[in-house]
Amino acid sequence: MDNSQPQKITLTAHGALQVPDVPIIPFIEGDGIGVDIWPATRHVIDKAVSAAYDGRRRIEWKELLVGEKGFHQTGQWLSDDALNTISEHAVAIKGPMTTPVGTGIRSLNVAIRQRLDLYACVRPVKYIDPVPSPMKAPHKIDMVVFRENTEDLYAGIEWQAGSDEVKRVIDFLNTQMGTTLTGPTGIGIKPISEANTKRLVARAITYAIELQRPSVTLMHKGNIMKFTEGAFSRWGYEVAKEHFADQTLTEAELYDTYNGKAPDGKVVIKDRIADMLFQQVLLRPDEFSVIATPNLNGDYISDALAAQVGGLGMAPGANIGDRCAVFEATHGTAPKYAGLDKVNPSSLILSGAMMLDHLGWNEAADRVRAALQATVRDGVVTYDLARQIQGAKEVACSAFATAIAERL
Ligand code: NAD
Repeated sequence: MDNSQPQKITLTAHGALQVPDVPIIPFIEGDGIGVDIWPATRHVIDKAVSAAYDGRRRIEWKELLVGEKGFHQTGQWLSDDALNTISEHAVAIKGPMTTPVGTGIRSLNVAIRQRLDLYACVRPVKYIDPVPSPMKAPHKIDMVVFRENTEDLYAGIEWQAGSDEVKRVIDFLNTQMGTTLTGPTGIGIKPISEANTKRLVARAITYAIELQRPSVTLMHKGNIMKFTEGAFSRWGYEVAKEHFADQTLTEAELYDTYNGKAPDGKVVIKDRIADMLFQQVLLRPDEFSVIATPNLNGDYISDALAAQVGGLGMAPGANIGDRCAVFEATHGTAPKYAGLDKVNPSSLILSGAMMLDHLGWNEAADRVRAALQATVRDGVVTYDLARQIQGAKEVACSAFATAIAERL
């Protein structure tokens, strides 16, 4: 096989990626500001790969028509073809997408996650100096959230107050389960399963082991929701014992056996009640590293942590399953800025760096992060940061990408 020709990424029988020198990677430009931030991101990633590997490696991009662009050109917001293409290529990257109103699609993002079983939403949160932060010591923040993506209250099992369906559910609950629900009441169901919890927590622990992270915190509200959130915590500890006994220890063991100091190479598994963790990530952020949590908690804590380091414009993210992974901007389509070449492309660029890490192209990924940091440190930033950093030079989205590329 000629290594200089574009090829698909493949998976081994154990699910490990086999990445050719010229992998074909599908991308979705995204709606709204996608037209601005995607070209900026592509410019930086292509240049970083070329610089890191002297032109031996490159990415062959393959556009997927999804979202508004898909609807206008093909009549479909999200086709089976597009989903199959992502699945076949194992890795993809996407800009933000509008939530279509009145089409029966709750959210294209949720549909992609559910249809491709991308069960882990991974959000690293790290401070980039001197981005304005509400924290006194933002450099202490270096956390990665693993949010379960497929179940919990996001499973979409809910019924409107007054509907025939909700009346049947309430009748069942009142007559057979001992509840006393009255009046117009909406009902949502919160499924949390052992299998989905364990595969999510296992992925978080594997990540912590591979990247030599000190701890994995199971975030839950199990003091109140014992059989869903409480079970999440219990199954999290169980999977650590079942599959990672040699590489992990619990917080109790840490203090009982090791006097509070973890032996080298051991990841501490601990748990925190969700509301308390929201306090602790503000007061003692350096005590938390990897956080594994059900869907709804994960949604809240990811955005709250992003705010602690300066907002969503800077926060990267990925949705990862056993067969494929989709890297994405974590903010929305910001329609009023679309096409103005104005907004901050950092979220998608840093998601691109996560994608390069996922391919095992860590040298290129490190270059992207270092060059982006150097650019911001030099005071060359887009409007959103320029108005908050004294003496900064405001540049357009594309010029910000060029400035990063120059520092690769
Ligand atoms: P939004 O994130 O699109 O925009 C809110 C505000 O944040 C913008 O007006 C802008 O001031 C700022 N902002 C966002 N991204 C920025 C960037 N890169 N640089 C600088 N400033 C930025 O949120 P919204 O207005 O609530 O949602 C608009 C649309 O996006 C909706 O259709 C929503 O469903 C969708 N959405 C998509 C995603 C996704 O695709 N992952 C996520 C959230 C919202």
